[in-house]
Amino acid sequence: MEAIGILLMYPVNSYLEQELDKRFKLLRYWTQPKQREFVAQHAESIRAVVGNATIGADADLIDALPKLEIVSSFSVGLDKVDLTKCKEKGIRVTNTPDVLTEDVADLAIGLMLAVLRRICECDKYVRRGAWKLGDFKLTTKFSGKRIGIIGLGRIGLAVAERAEAFDCPISYHSRSKKANTKYTYYGSVVELASNSDILVIACALTPETTHIVNREVIDALGPKGVLINIGRGPHVDEAELVSALVEGRLGGAGLDVFEKEPEVPEQLFGLENVVLLPHVGSGTVEARAVMADLVLGNLEAHFSSKPLLTPVV
Ligand code: NAP
Repeated sequence: MEAIGILLMYPVNSYLEQELDKRFKLLRYWTQPKQREFVAQHAESIRAVVGNATIGADADLIDALPKLEIVSSFSVGLDKVDLTKCKEKGIRVTNTPDVLTEDVADLAIGLMLAVLRRICECDKYVRRGAWKLGDFKLTTKFSGKRIGIIGLGRIGLAVAERAEAFDCPISYHSRSKKANTKYTYYGSVVELASNSDILVIACALTPETTHIVNREVIDALGPKGVLINIGRGPHVDEAELVSALVEGRLGGAGLDVFEKEPEVPEQLFGLENVVLLPHVGSGTVEARAVMADLVLGNLEAHFSSKPLLTPVV
């Protein structure tokens, strides 16, 4: 397989990079000062693209690669891959579902606790010596809070199961009511937000879910409500979120993802009711190793004419 050109878009994982280098002709997109020219120069040999949540395969890249057969994404979300174009051109697409679900759901619970119990603020309080001058103020209880989940898929369900252990009543919104769940369904996000103390975004990013959390939803969640985003940044109208937090119209937020990563609105930096993470939902050694093996397994299966491990297209 050494002659097969693989275009790696981003330095996703050193183990994956090493293994791709051993098995294929690896081309590193992000290291190139003139990326368009680089792609054109290698277009005849590139048969696979490996991207992630930051950069995948858009229509321009796909059109520039006439020999492209497969896009294997080091992520479960495929919002950076032009799936319609891949379908049109018969290009296969794979992702890394399930293997990161627990880590992302764990992090969602961590964010809820961190925001309500002000864990990051407490840590800063101890480090700057403020404890010696007095006790930290009281915070808000997490157990028993009403959790609303947008997108009861793999991750949404794992968040729900974890939150149940904290005696939290669970409700959700998705495109359709799930037959095999006891959780309460709401047909609109506004209704869900109105009936939740904590609203968690866990749906896929599509044109329909872009800005699914807008001013109306934020207002429905209200000044005591907390927004947790472990989905994708563009799910939230970030300008509206920032003004709601600054004006005290929303109680707090725990955010792993942002609209224009790695840019984060600086107005959030001074707010103690906000916890900001650098998109680390699946960022554990364990999850990333299995994700890398899935990317490799899918590529090897494809180029050996075997069934793909996690096919999407
Ligand atoms: P999944 O099992 O495919 O679940 C996606 C859910 O989105 C489905 O339950 C689907 O429900 C819902 N959905 C799709 N369109 C919707 C719409 N218009 N309105 C409401 N709900 C909608 O995917 P997953 O494995 O749980 O992953 C979910 C997302 O998490 C990924 O797409 C990715 O963007 C994000 N993620 C983030 C991180 C991180 O590091 N922060 C890591 C991994 C994944 P219905 O089909 O019933 O509508």
